[in-house]
Amino acid sequence: MNPLRVLILGGTSEASTLARALRDDARFAPTLSLAGRTLAPVLPPIPYRIGGFGGIAGLVDYLRGEAIAALIDATHPFAAQMTRHAHEASAETAVKLLRIDRPAWTPGPGDRWLGVASMAQAAAALGAAPRRVFLTIGQQELAPFRAAPWHHYVIRSVDPPPPDARPPDADIITARGPFAVADEQALMLAHRIEIVVTKNAGAAATIAKLEAARALGLPVVMVARPPAPPMPTVATAAAALDWLAAHAAAIRRGV
Ligand code: NAP
Repeated sequence: MNPLRVLILGGTSEASTLARALRDDARFAPTLSLAGRTLAPVLPPIPYRIGGFGGIAGLVDYLRGEAIAALIDATHPFAAQMTRHAHEASAETAVKLLRIDRPAWTPGPGDRWLGVASMAQAAAALGAAPRRVFLTIGQQELAPFRAAPWHHYVIRSVDPPPPDARPPDADIITARGPFAVADEQALMLAHRIEIVVTKNAGAAATIAKLEAARALGLPVVMVARPPAPPMPTVATAAAALDWLAAHAAAIRRGV
């Protein structure tokens, strides 16, 4: 029996975990796809490719050309375009699609969250008075904060944002999670942070900033996830492996 050819759309720890789980499993022939956003990506232990497909049509061509039988969308909850493309390409090719979508963070006792729907709303929520802001939203969506240049920003991202994308008064910290609560608290105190802005990524590796903000009594502007098209979805790499195993077994039975 030929192994099931699987394309994992990556960029998350769930994608990496699934890649490791499939590495030595003879039922599957997986490939991981990375967008190529970070300068030094963590490379998987399975075959991989880097870079966009060229829109929906390009992804359709890839799925057909590589005879992919299962598509796993394990992109970041905010990678809405890639998720939409996966949905459309699956519909066009009838390649089975599963999304791995980790649960969103939810506020608990002691949290001071302000929920907003967009990065523009997050920038507006900082207000008219200058504040010291810890901005942990990556480096692709800084434009709304350039429009609020009276704040001091501490921007943390994996790679440094290009100088012309930054707000004028900004310290840049390059780092990749996981982060520890004590370190996050120390960072916030050292930079005299007054408010945190983040997106609801839901990742275990980056939750420490929320615990640190709670401990320090700091408000958090939380950007909600963009909507995704309806599709079969699981929360973990382990559940995706179960789904793949069932799919491979069904193909073997000729279902
Ligand atoms: P996006 O806006 O949804 O995607 C933009 C384009 O990038 C897609 O149309 C596609 O290009 C290409 N692309 C995205 N993910 C890809 C993948 N895994 N493999 C091949 N091409 C991919 O996504 P994004 O915000 O640019 O995010 C890009 C990557 O960074 C994703 O892998 C995501 O998981 C990761 N990431 C994103 C965020 C975030 O907040 N957005 C945070 C952390 C990590 P084509 O149309 O040419 O195929």
